[in-house]
Amino acid sequence: MSESANQDIAQDLLKKIGSYDPDFDKDAVSRAIEFAVKYHGKQKRHSGDPYYYHPLAVASILADMKLDGRTIITAILHDTVEDTTATLADITSQFGEEISRLVDGVTKLTKIEFQSNNEKQAENYRKLLVAISEDIRVLLVKLADRLHNMRTLQHIKKPEKRRNIAHETMEIYAPLAERIGMQKIKDELQNLAFNELNPEAYKSIVSRLEYLRESGTEVADRTVARLNELLNNVDINAKVFSREKTPYSVWLKMQRKNMGFEQLSDIIAFRIIVNSNKECYRALGEIHAAFHMIPENFKDYISTPKNNGYQSIHTVVVGPEQRKIEIQIRTKEMHEIAEMGVAAHWLYKQGKPYTSDDRQYRWIRELLYIIEHASGPEEFLENTKLEMYHDQVFCFTPHGDLIALPRGATPVDFAFAVHSEVGRSCVGAKINSRIMPLRTQLKNGDQVEIIQSKSAHPSQAWEHFVITAKALSEIRRFLRTQKKSQYLKLGKEIIEKALQSENEELHEKMIEAVLEKFGKKSVDDIYSAVGDGTIPRNEVVKALFPEKFKNKKPSLLSRLTGMAKKGKKEEKISVPIMGLIPGMAIHYAGCCHPLPGERIIGIVNSGRGVTIHTSDCIELEQYVESPERWIDLAWEKNVTESVYVGRLKAVLTNKKGALAALANTVAKGEANINNVRIVNRSSDFFEIILDIEVHDIEHFNNVINLLKAKKVIHSVTRYREGNH
Ligand code: MN
Repeated sequence: MSESANQDIAQDLLKKIGSYDPDFDKDAVSRAIEFAVKYHGKQKRHSGDPYYYHPLAVASILADMKLDGRTIITAILHDTVEDTTATLADITSQFGEEISRLVDGVTKLTKIEFQSNNEKQAENYRKLLVAISEDIRVLLVKLADRLHNMRTLQHIKKPEKRRNIAHETMEIYAPLAERIGMQKIKDELQNLAFNELNPEAYKSIVSRLEYLRESGTEVADRTVARLNELLNNVDINAKVFSREKTPYSVWLKMQRKNMGFEQLSDIIAFRIIVNSNKECYRALGEIHAAFHMIPENFKDYISTPKNNGYQSIHTVVVGPEQRKIEIQIRTKEMHEIAEMGVAAHWLYKQGKPYTSDDRQYRWIRELLYIIEHASGPEEFLENTKLEMYHDQVFCFTPHGDLIALPRGATPVDFAFAVHSEVGRSCVGAKINSRIMPLRTQLKNGDQVEIIQSKSAHPSQAWEHFVITAKALSEIRRFLRTQKKSQYLKLGKEIIEKALQSENEELHEKMIEAVLEKFGKKSVDDIYSAVGDGTIPRNEVVKALFPEKFKNKKPSLLSRLTGMAKKGKKEEKISVPIMGLIPGMAIHYAGCCHPLPGERIIGIVNSGRGVTIHTSDCIELEQYVESPERWIDLAWEKNVTESVYVGRLKAVLTNKKGALAALANTVAKGEANINNVRIVNRSSDFFEIILDIEVHDIEHFNNVINLLKAKKVIHSVTRYREGNH
């Protein structure tokens, strides 16, 4: 790296900052660059470039977002304390307290490794939130840092390491970017990570996008022209753009809606930028007057913004050329906020740090609260993911206070969102003045009144329908303490009874003497363990009075039952389903082939155990007259050890290699073909039924989507009896 090339990078950066902030502290930025160049010295990146290219590139990403000089300086210095001999004290003395504090925050974030086990993850997540709750700029620098590292990911040799980084990006940083409204960064992070994590799917979507683009550019251009004309005719000064969706957003949509992308409208959306809020609604009116709108898809995020500040009107119409098109309407300012989120707000709030005191960042506090009250890391991570990915509904208290909840939330979620105490004492709810079941899903604009009773407490049933982390963690916490005290009482009674039959009496001292033998810390622990069955009562009695059992030979009967038990145990396959009656035989319905991860229902057959169907199986119709045969079941979470059969129907073009392409794609999806049946054949197409072995519904859908992206495969659907 020559001195002059280094000068160029520095000059470019200074020029870029000067273009939006002529009064910035040029001297301080230059000193920061010198500092980074000096301390990183001869360090190299994986690409072979000098290390300080990286902090300068990170600074440049932030300068593109027009951030203030201090954020830029923090970016330039962000790796010096972590990776060089420079100390925080050096930074404080040369750049002041504020920068030193920011660099320290970024350094702390960098030290967090998310790929470790779950337990550490939750703690790490807490650290992350604490660091960013002090000044959100710490997160901005970290996100830019991650973005540059993702852009240069290919230079890392070890696939394992690349994968871990991509995973962390997808699970932690992209959702955080979304949470603070940085759409553009979120999109780029997701696409880079997607390419690393599922290269096969990425490639097929990109090539499919290219194909559709070739055939569709003209249509898109004509549509833009038509929309421009429409708005210009009524004197709305608008800019109309078409934009292609990103590969990852197309993939997500395929997964979520379980459909393929066949037409241009699936990949191109239109955006209209106007000058004022009023014009947004005028433009909307013109468009709805000219084209048929599709009501389910209409969203007005201008009157009720998303909780990350996003504003826009979304509508889908049957546009010119009779194609469905998606249109977003917004002002220029809304557009900036949509693309850059908090960074755009920054421009309007010069100098003041963004902290979790700001209303908009209250979620940071809420997440912290949840971490501190969750029982285990898995519970916490599951909860935060839920919160991060859901869309929002906005509801009101009787006093008119706005409560934002994830879509699908119920009055119980609402109650806990208002206050923990309200949630705990909730017994019923009025939605828009009518008493409604507590499991009702709330809709935008609902007014919710919670009916409370002092003696009430959370019910176990709530656990199955609430969706907010706060409600879920509070309910589980309550049930856990309740269960513990129940088991404790039960365990004590069990031991007392067992001792009675040996003509002995229970004293706590006796139990204390055997604590160590069972690896327990307290007498109560032993009681609870006996109560919930983890320690058999006989073991306790034996430990207390070993002499009584010394000479006892097992009776013939107990040997026989022992054998019988043993035999039975081997026969018993553990079924990862909750809600089954122990010992009941089960089988999976051949009509719908239920897979782990989807909703299921059990039907009791007299003498033949339980048949498990998917909850949307058509065959269930025939049991509606006998509700007593239905049982509520649910898959355990994370069932991945076993293999299940999913059945699908594919229509292939009758071309050489079509079947081979199908088989290859299934293999790329890491699934096995178990059975193939050709059911229909014509000169153009043939139809096959395919059984494949998968882990769960997600895996199954993943394979279906991979197949859909293939050109020779005309269509793929899940196959069910009676639903061809
Ligand atoms: Mn870095």
